[in-house]
Amino acid sequence: METLALNPASPGLLDAATGLYADIVFDRPLDHPYTYAVPAALTGKVGVGKRVEAPFGRGGKTTSGFCVRVSTNPPARGEVKELERVLDDDALVDDHLMKLTRWMADYYLCGWGQVLHAVVPAGVRENAGTRQAVFVEPVAKDELPNPLPTITAAQKTALDRLKKENRPLELGQLARLAKCGPAVVGALIKKRLVKKFTERVESSEGRGVADDGLASSPSPPTPLELNADQTAVWDKLSPALNQGFHAFLLHGVTGSGKTEIYLRAIEEVVKQGKEAIVLVPEISLTPQTIERFRGRCGTVAILHSHLTDAERGAYWRRVATGHVQVVVGARSAVFAPTRKLGLVIIDEEHETTFKQESTPRYHARDVAVMRARLEDIPIVMGSATPSLESWANAARGAYTLLELPNRVESRPMPPVQVVDLRHEPKPQGKPGAISPTLETAMRTTLKEKGQIILLLNRRGFSTHVHCPACGHVAQCAHCDLALTFHRTKAALVCHYCGWETAPYAKCPGCGQAAVRYQGLGTEKLHAEVEEKFPGHVCQRMDSDTMAKPGSHQRVFDAFRDGLVQILVGTQMIAKGLDFPNVTLVGVVNADVGLHLPDFRSAERTFQLLAQVAGRAGRGDKGGRVLVQTYTPEHPCVTLAAAHDYGAFAGQELAHRKQHKYPPFERMARLIVRSEKEDAANAFAETLAGAFQSALASHAKTADGKPAAVRLLGPAECPVFRLKNFYRFHFQVQAEASGVLHEVLRAALATARPPSGVEFQVDIDPYSML
Ligand code: ADP
Ligand code: ZN
Repeated sequence: METLALNPASPGLLDAATGLYADIVFDRPLDHPYTYAVPAALTGKVGVGKRVEAPFGRGGKTTSGFCVRVSTNPPARGEVKELERVLDDDALVDDHLMKLTRWMADYYLCGWGQVLHAVVPAGVRENAGTRQAVFVEPVAKDELPNPLPTITAAQKTALDRLKKENRPLELGQLARLAKCGPAVVGALIKKRLVKKFTERVESSEGRGVADDGLASSPSPPTPLELNADQTAVWDKLSPALNQGFHAFLLHGVTGSGKTEIYLRAIEEVVKQGKEAIVLVPEISLTPQTIERFRGRCGTVAILHSHLTDAERGAYWRRVATGHVQVVVGARSAVFAPTRKLGLVIIDEEHETTFKQESTPRYHARDVAVMRARLEDIPIVMGSATPSLESWANAARGAYTLLELPNRVESRPMPPVQVVDLRHEPKPQGKPGAISPTLETAMRTTLKEKGQIILLLNRRGFSTHVHCPACGHVAQCAHCDLALTFHRTKAALVCHYCGWETAPYAKCPGCGQAAVRYQGLGTEKLHAEVEEKFPGHVCQRMDSDTMAKPGSHQRVFDAFRDGLVQILVGTQMIAKGLDFPNVTLVGVVNADVGLHLPDFRSAERTFQLLAQVAGRAGRGDKGGRVLVQTYTPEHPCVTLAAAHDYGAFAGQELAHRKQHKYPPFERMARLIVRSEKEDAANAFAETLAGAFQSALASHAKTADGKPAAVRLLGPAECPVFRLKNFYRFHFQVQAEASGVLHEVLRAALATARPPSGVEFQVDIDPYSML
């Protein structure tokens, strides 16, 4: 049998042998599976959702892929090769996930194999956290050799010990228990009194961490009594929890008690014997959030990005075997291999971190909605500032809108004061980032023993390093981007590719010594705060200071315990934190990010301001917010100050409609890149031609009407050179995703970039730079 598999004979012969074929997808951008003959030795092993090895590509190199279909249909034409090996005993991917990944490949225009490869964690694929173990058990009576062989005293001890166990033991374990060497057990196997078999078991590494992680909270928090708003929401939601697919958008202001609604819904579903997936932004995966889920909802698995492969593998296996009721995790938790999924929850559904920026470029919210549809279960998306996509879906009735317009216990939303930086009085002494108005507010707050959060969404010390004599600006050697000076590191750093260089003593352009360091980042703000408030502890929180696992938690604990009075940070500090003693939130510059070449920049700015404002006044002491800006009349600023999401969404949607931006049109972005500018340019032109003919032929098929698809580009990307790649992009827009995909498929069907040139397709893009 073995030789058959290793030595492919003529295909015809083999077909006759088993008549079975397997469709395999590989981790490549291919739009169809490849069909292989299943040799007799593998017929019992092959199956949908398992990984296999098969000869692939020009040299027929052994390549692993996923089996997506087993049938008796031979391929239409071509030589049939044979499967070489089946790698998994059990399917890694069940039916539902098969369908979901198939849909993703179609929708995001990438290979099914690429999706499967990305969805199944490496720790599962590589069996991390497991090992092959050799087990032994006594042979059955009727299989005993005749005559019985003679055995030594040591062998008899081991055999008796094994019989007494009445279950298979690992060979080493038996040797330990019987206080003999493994050779003694080996002799019993040789004499056919004991038989051995191998099985994959979890290693102590995988087992230990997963079991620790799954331990439930010692004191389960008691459920709160719902207030009137929550009750109204619950009355609409709870009847739908057992009624098939239903999408809800829970719009509740910060601190309105959305999480309490999630917890109830999860409890209900778990009571029904089903499982729930909760997607949260990575930053929310703090023990603070997690403790709320533990204890109330059965066994909770937390999937955060600091897990090792072994831990991830262990969790996956526990979820797949039904040992976990609730999976809480970031983006990729949407693929948790639950057995009886009953509910999906997405908290902070507007967060852009749900979008993956590498192949497959999926959005976890959209994938979650599709998963809920495929599994015919409810899904709840919650936010204080919903994405305009979801808001529009609610407006047209695709999602049911649930609203919590007030904070719990009638706490007021904090008043927001806008500080117009154009008209602030000049401070005495050195001018800084903190205006006199903000400084006074901070002093008052500290005197009253309140705590302060200061948001500045830019890290580093100086964000603009330039020469006043010749105008030279410090730029990355690999990107069209200005470098940021980091004082702690004593380096100029590119925030895109991480390239660093020593700070200039003299201008590299003209040799002048007076290089200017301007522009403000969190590092400089931190220094200014320490200088102005020497008696208080200020902690900076951004990706530079929070690189180590557990560092968020340390800072949050210190802040909660009052060891830190002022927290300075990037958007990291704007989300989800619930610190009742924060009575002042200061936004140092509301305009950062407002003028980026991205149609979502206003939405993001509004969301950030509304979210950070939501950190103030969560306790009995109340609180307030100060927003410093040079554009106090901008609707993002005025409507965030008025806590009026509805008005902002209305205005912004009108603007989007007028300019035919999502959610009114579907968008795809194509990037062509190469380290050679000419090559990138040339291929972009080739693609442009392919698009033109795709559009032309499409116009003909649609009843002679012109195609409702618009093509913009090719043009240089806003950041033309990134990590040494020259980049051109296309923007393709259409009223419906169907027609958009048709045109993209037609245009890309023949697109073969020359070597050294790549292209990426991004459906529903979030990154526009
Ligand atoms: P959100 O998720 O909307 O920001 P949370 O669910 O975190 O709001 O609730 C904010 C705070 O209010 C939490 O400390 C929570 O325990 C509390 N809370 C929620 N619901 C109630 C309620 N019905 N009665 C009293 N306190 C509540
Ligand atoms: Zn760079």
